[in-house]
Amino acid sequence: MDPNAGSGSDQAVTPARPSAPSCQPIAWRELINDFCWHRLFSIVAPPIVSVYGMLTTRTNHYTALFSVGYLILCGFGITAGYHRLWSHRSYNASRLLEYVLALLASANMQPSIYKWCYAHRIHHRYTDTDLDPYNARRGLWWSHIGWIFWHSSVRLGMPINMSDLDKNPVVMWQQRWYWPLAILMGYVVPILVAGLGWGDWRGGIFYAGFLRHTLSTQFTLSVNSLAHYLGEMTYDDKHTPRDHWITAILTNGEGYHNFHHQYPMDYRNAIKWHQWDPTKWFIFACEKVGLASHLKRFPENEIQKGALAMQLKKARALSDRLQWPPDSNELPVITWESFQEQAETRPLVLIAGFIHDLSAFLDEHPGGRRHLENNIGRDATSFFFGGVYDHSNAAHNLLSMMRVGVLHGGMEVQTEAEVLRSLAEGVIPLSPRLQGLRAY
Ligand SMILES: [Zn+2]
Ligand SMILES: [Zn+2]
Repeated sequence: MDPNAGSGSDQAVTPARPSAPSCQPIAWRELINDFCWHRLFSIVAPPIVSVYGMLTTRTNHYTALFSVGYLILCGFGITAGYHRLWSHRSYNASRLLEYVLALLASANMQPSIYKWCYAHRIHHRYTDTDLDPYNARRGLWWSHIGWIFWHSSVRLGMPINMSDLDKNPVVMWQQRWYWPLAILMGYVVPILVAGLGWGDWRGGIFYAGFLRHTLSTQFTLSVNSLAHYLGEMTYDDKHTPRDHWITAILTNGEGYHNFHHQYPMDYRNAIKWHQWDPTKWFIFACEKVGLASHLKRFPENEIQKGALAMQLKKARALSDRLQWPPDSNELPVITWESFQEQAETRPLVLIAGFIHDLSAFLDEHPGGRRHLENNIGRDATSFFFGGVYDHSNAAHNLLSMMRVGVLHGGMEVQTEAEVLRSLAEGVIPLSPRLQGLRAY
């Protein structure tokens, strides 16, 4: 099946409205003609009916529990089925599981598997561009729900490979029987369960039917909006997808969207044990009972590289915001005699080949002013490095900011190999160590 059927174009990428002249401002008439009125009705009507139902119908505990359970169960049809199985082929499902997922997904009254996956594959291929149906750079409202109302949001004729779904009998079956399946699973089944089960026909209609349908629509849409807006960019910041537990809770685990956009063929969204991803657990359980196989995982080593690259980027940004001691090449080289002479008028102390001006620190020294005064004009290296007190990293960092010169012939010169070895062994105090990282 070709979603471009009828477009009449053989271009690799075709505009949404091939006949429209390019670079022309979009006319109001064109916007109105493109507007999808029946989608406006299908999006707006369920919440209005839900509010009416909640105001006029007593809540039955069984119905409330069933509605939440049915919401979560049918959500797996979208997350484990539409998304991770049919859009991304992140695992293989048995024919039985495919039929079950297709039925559950139909209860959410979203587009058919084929249409949904076509749009989603475009989203991944052209993320954050004008070709992306839910382009997050057009704002939260557009990426959440605005895109639905215009036919041209999902462009036809894109070079998206759909051959796997063309050949899939379950996908074709659901496409053929889409409306009967959607009405059956979306409304008939929940109403019958609540009505025949415990006599709450009205609750079945408004809570298990309309309200559940409304919530499932909003939760699914939040993957396109909230998951591109809220949270951390853990693995890459080139595009907008983000990781956040709130989105994960709303969407059966689809909230670790930065991970997902980086590794879309991975059957998981969350990879840490404490992160909420019931869809991953559902697929894992299906594998254990023989309903799923070939669960794909991106190599852990490559995942960690992505995370490390972002951590280094953040560390570098922080490092750029901090003040660092002057480079030793920028400091004046002073003879021992000159150091002695200048120490008569300023509190200069030599430590590890660097001359430090302690003027602003004499009264701040936790060990007292006297210890410092005793070392003015002297080499206090052994005192500082443990002779009297083994100073902390913080003290090393602070001291390095007071450097005003280098003693001629007093610097220990290290080879590159020695510096790297010192870095690895952690024997160089923090400031020089970080400077070493910046230098090498
Ligand atoms: Zn995806
Ligand atoms: Zn996305």
